[in-house]
Amino acid sequence: MVGEGRLRQLRVVLVGTTHPGNIGSAARAMKAMGVRDLVLVAPERFPHADATALASGADDLLAAAQVVGDLPAAVADCVWVLGTSARLRTHSVPVLPPDRAAERALGQARHGPVALVFGREHSGLTNSELDYCNAFVQVPTVPDFSSLNLAGSVQVMTYALRMAALAAEDAPGVAPSDERDPPATQAEMEGLYAHLEQALTTIEVLDPDNPRHLMRRLRHLYQRSGLTASEVRMLRGILIHTQRGR
Ligand code: SAH
Repeated sequence: MVGEGRLRQLRVVLVGTTHPGNIGSAARAMKAMGVRDLVLVAPERFPHADATALASGADDLLAAAQVVGDLPAAVADCVWVLGTSARLRTHSVPVLPPDRAAERALGQARHGPVALVFGREHSGLTNSELDYCNAFVQVPTVPDFSSLNLAGSVQVMTYALRMAALAAEDAPGVAPSDERDPPATQAEMEGLYAHLEQALTTIEVLDPDNPRHLMRRLRHLYQRSGLTASEVRMLRGILIHTQRGR
């Protein structure tokens, strides 16, 4: 049951959901696919009778769901964050199709929790929420009608994850794991960004009065490269020396 175990490391994060029914339908979709960890970021109405009704039997997931105030709190302990989007935006982080995204997510789940982040029904995810993602997934729809129902996209993605998990069971141990140097968590990455911003300000590369897009571009660069915890420590060591000027 290698794959089933790995599915338990996956977290569905629903950001700012408006309709409680969608939360229930998402829980139902998750439970059928063996994904159980649900985190709600500032839902408009929850708990709610519509959520329970549409969960139809997945109310154990709703009862266990964590409610948090913002996306960083939902993904702080995650080693990889996959954002979902109906639209391709110009962004410097890779956009993957569901099967490839699922494979990567399961691979990362060997090291710790992996989040799949879903946006608001009307407006999706904000730009700063997108900045927390290591990669994006887009369900390939027809180009002129690209927006799926929120719970529908949770179903497609958790199905893709289950298929990838079942394939991993058939081929156990294909991906070697390096337990000694796990990927950095999002909280460790946030520590690096704060430190980097400070050091760049000290050496006057970053002008706090006119920061332009420097921090965002650096963030995308590091998110894309998937740093390990020890690489983050190494970079922060360099930053300490940079700040000292020797
Ligand atoms: N107008 C919004 C649509 C949001 S739909 C936008 O353009 O972003 C609500 C959520 O469902 C999205 O934030 C995303 O998480 C998911 N979703 C909808 N269609 C999707 C698609 N084609 N691929 C991946 N996720 C999708």
